[in-house]
Amino acid sequence: MALRRPMVAGNWKMNGSRQLAQELMKKFSRLKDDSAEVVICPPTVYLESASQLLENSKQELDGRLVRLGAQNVSHHEFGAYTGEVSASMLREFGCKYVIIGHSERRRMYGETSDIVANKFEMAQKLGLTPILCVGESLAAREARRTFEVIAGELDAVIERVGTMAFDNAIIAYEPLWAVGTGKSATPEQAQEVHAFIRQRLSEVSPFIGEKIRILYGGSVKPSNAADLFSQPDVDGGLIGGVSLNASEFMALCDIA
Ligand code: PEP
Repeated sequence: MALRRPMVAGNWKMNGSRQLAQELMKKFSRLKDDSAEVVICPPTVYLESASQLLENSKQELDGRLVRLGAQNVSHHEFGAYTGEVSASMLREFGCKYVIIGHSERRRMYGETSDIVANKFEMAQKLGLTPILCVGESLAAREARRTFEVIAGELDAVIERVGTMAFDNAIIAYEPLWAVGTGKSATPEQAQEVHAFIRQRLSEVSPFIGEKIRILYGGSVKPSNAADLFSQPDVDGGLIGGVSLNASEFMALCDIA
């Protein structure tokens, strides 16, 4: 088995239904035996039924790794925070992963790198594995500030959590100009940034640099996945739009 098992994670965003979870579970029993680890991140209200479905499909899955993730988490442990959901609640709902710092949350809900670092810390403290999203805007790329932006987003977490922050975490490189736009990064662009992230983390800990999984996200589809996923530092994908189509999502899982 390779040091880094590929992963394909589906971020449904505010889409999907119970029926989609059922459709996916049926298909997952047809995953290859040595397939990528598959994660679905439905809206919070569907987590409990998805968790139940997973439990009921255990036999058909026969050891294939299919797991649940949440799309967001509170940076508070518990208390008077109306509308928020805590990491321990997500654990109780069967989640192993949580997406943190997605560009939509940074952009539309004012999540600063500081808040993102707090969420990352709380998720790990309560037993969830963060999938940390990082990525540059088009303006930053055009100004040749891509590496600076990504380094800043990684450093905010390392400064808060410490040098072992990424010992139990996944990173998703999601250039903002590629998320939901239909315009993916080229395999070379993705590889360049993934190699930078790995190098940066290797400087903190060579062991972590080598073992951390770095996913690419941004308009991945069956027609471009093979080229993206075959890059040496790309360990799979974080998938938005295509994760809502059970057949296409399965195709991505097979490609990874
Ligand atoms: C995402 O939302 O994380 C994402 C990558 O979306 P899409 O695949 O639709 O670009």
